Amino acid sequence: MKVWIDQEYCTGDGLCEELCSAMFQLEDDGLAYVKENGVVPSDRAGREAMVAVSSDDEEAVREAVQECAGECIFIEE
Ligand code: SF4
Repeated sequence: MKVWIDQEYCTGDGLCEELCSAMFQLEDDGLAYVKENGVVPSDRAGREAMVAVSSDDEEAVREAVQECAGECIFIEE
């Protein structure tokens, strides 16, 4: 399973980070990004920053997808 965020529709409420801080992080621009190996890549965003989700984080990521106010977290199986 892989996940990415479309920052264009992110409201910046930070719910994804609350639900799964291993995979999501709010940045200084007020938008959420996916983390790769624990850090947000500085050179990619949106679908280009899609990363694999470890099995331990899959349930929390799915919950974040369901709860995301911007409906902008996307999973690809
Ligand atoms: S839950 Fe969705 S809208 Fe909220 S910060 Fe995360 S990506 Fe943005």
